[in-house]
Amino acid sequence: MAIVELPDNVVITKLDRLVAWCRSYSLWPMPFATACCGIELMATGASRHDIARFGAEVFRFSPRQCDLMIVAGRVVMKMLPVLQRLWQQMHEPKWCISMGACASTGGVFDTYSVVQGIDRFIPVDIYVPGCPPRPEQLIQALVDLQAKIQAEDTVRGREFDAPSRQCPKRALQEHPVD
Ligand code: SF4
Repeated sequence: MAIVELPDNVVITKLDRLVAWCRSYSLWPMPFATACCGIELMATGASRHDIARFGAEVFRFSPRQCDLMIVAGRVVMKMLPVLQRLWQQMHEPKWCISMGACASTGGVFDTYSVVQGIDRFIPVDIYVPGCPPRPEQLIQALVDLQAKIQAEDTVRGREFDAPSRQCPKRALQEHPVD
């Protein structure tokens, strides 16, 4: 087998790897901040912690421009249709971080009116524990998500074939997506 010597500054890789690498460092977060965890989310974007260092500072408030949903705070049943609609309006590929005990489990609000974990209704990629989590924890979650994207994601979305990504999520209400 012939061995070809590559000139300087030439790298050979798979297209899947290259696209996943680009995606992981250009995340556009969609903040869904409903309570106190949202303050820590804001702090993560401010100068002291500076989420821009990780390529994820472009917060947008339009779901069609975002690919990373960050749910920070408790979600009540009345807000759940809004969360689901925003999630549906985000384009693929998209990811979700559940920030804090309330978003992940309902936290101390063990009551009928609070969603006992958003992963019952939308798929979650990374959970951040704490009440509230520190900005450093959210940044660690972002770094973990970047590693996950680089390891799994493919141009044709083969990662969505995995059984773990196919868990059926319940829909509270059927809304046609505009
Ligand atoms: S986890 Fe704690 S800080 Fe976050 S929304 Fe719930 S009560 Fe507030």
